[in-house]
Amino acid sequence: MQAVNEESARCEFSLAHYRYILRRARAAGYHVCGHREFLRSSAQRTLMLRHDVDVSLAEALRLARLEAREGVQSTYFIRLRASGYNVLSRLELTRIRTLIDLGFEVGLHLETGLREGLFIDPSEEAAFSKQLLEIVSGQAVAGCAMHVPKQTHGSLSRDTLRKSGFLYEAGEPEFNHHVQFFSDSNQMWKPSCPCLAIDQADRLYVTVHPIWWTRPRTNVERIRRRLSQGL
Ligand SMILES: [Zn+2]
Ligand SMILES: [Zn+2]
Repeated sequence: MQAVNEESARCEFSLAHYRYILRRARAAGYHVCGHREFLRSSAQRTLMLRHDVDVSLAEALRLARLEAREGVQSTYFIRLRASGYNVLSRLELTRIRTLIDLGFEVGLHLETGLREGLFIDPSEEAAFSKQLLEIVSGQAVAGCAMHVPKQTHGSLSRDTLRKSGFLYEAGEPEFNHHVQFFSDSNQMWKPSCPCLAIDQADRLYVTVHPIWWTRPRTNVERIRRRLSQGL
């Protein structure tokens, strides 16, 4: 068990190294924030932090509590069809409300139709999903991020997403301008751990899947398989 305030400069998937990344970024003058805040911020140095909550809201909330203690913000993109959590259950609803109370932005981790072409028209489903997450979270949902884009039925154009009421989709050009991207997909950093880019670039876009950090010894292959089956 890691001590609450421990930090580690060693690049590994641990809460201690996560805390180190945040502290280094803040010390170097980066504004660590979520997407909605990124769009209105004029900070010269920004680290935009995106969380894809693929598997567990409980683990996401653990990471959020750490971030809140470190004084940073981020966006948590939440699924409506995850097999690991049900946003309509009382427990998960409380977790979502806690994320909001801690000051985090909640967005929709959008999945429509999956492979089988099930369900309604993708744009109708996007609008419906947004409304449902708004009811659950008790506040307006500004943005979405595609979950496993290859599985998402049809590509939802920018126009379609605007008609569905979204202010942004996390992959849109507004977020790409002079930005360096980092992602911890399948518990492997691409292209590298973002701590190595601090002081090297002014705008960093970091995608994090909370479970790799809160449960570093989890079975990556099992989770990867579940997600590839749309679960
Ligand atoms: Zn690192
Ligand atoms: Zn995802």
